[in-house]
Amino acid sequence: MKTLPIITLPDRKLRLVSDPVERIDDDLRRFMDRMLATMYDAPGIGLAAIQVGEPRRVVVLDVAKREDETAESSPMFLVNPEILSSSDERSVHEEGCLSIPEYYAEVERPASVRVAFLDRDGKRQEMEASGILAVCLQHEIDHLDGKLFIDHLSKLKRDMVIKRFAKQAKLGPKPAL
Ligand code: ZN
Repeated sequence: MKTLPIITLPDRKLRLVSDPVERIDDDLRRFMDRMLATMYDAPGIGLAAIQVGEPRRVVVLDVAKREDETAESSPMFLVNPEILSSSDERSVHEEGCLSIPEYYAEVERPASVRVAFLDRDGKRQEMEASGILAVCLQHEIDHLDGKLFIDHLSKLKRDMVIKRFAKQAKLGPKPAL
């Protein structure tokens, strides 16, 4: 399956608030399959539609291999996902983002969340998540609101990253070694 180009900083589209999906049909399912192929190819464990330039509230993720390299893939498709509640308990995980390549930082977030979403068939689902799945869900749902994981860092660190990517964009792609 053909993959989609992933947009990266400083692309301003990453700051758009995505629109809710009105109808779940074969077109959308095809789009989600291409998103998933793009995510696996990158490789990554989560991808929001805006990262391929589409401001729609769609997320695909698969955290199975993150915990166990030999695990079967178990993709999830979330349409119009929303966080219903978050735990008071917080935890810190190292995060990265396909739209901010080769930058990683520790981010503190609620340790667990309860999320509602529509699945591939348009059925409403609710799920309680903790660990890496909770991190991934919060990270991807942030994307739908134009937020990036670097927004959770100190202003100093965030500005440094933004500056670095702006400069890189001006210089053009790095020559391959
Ligand atoms: Zn991301």
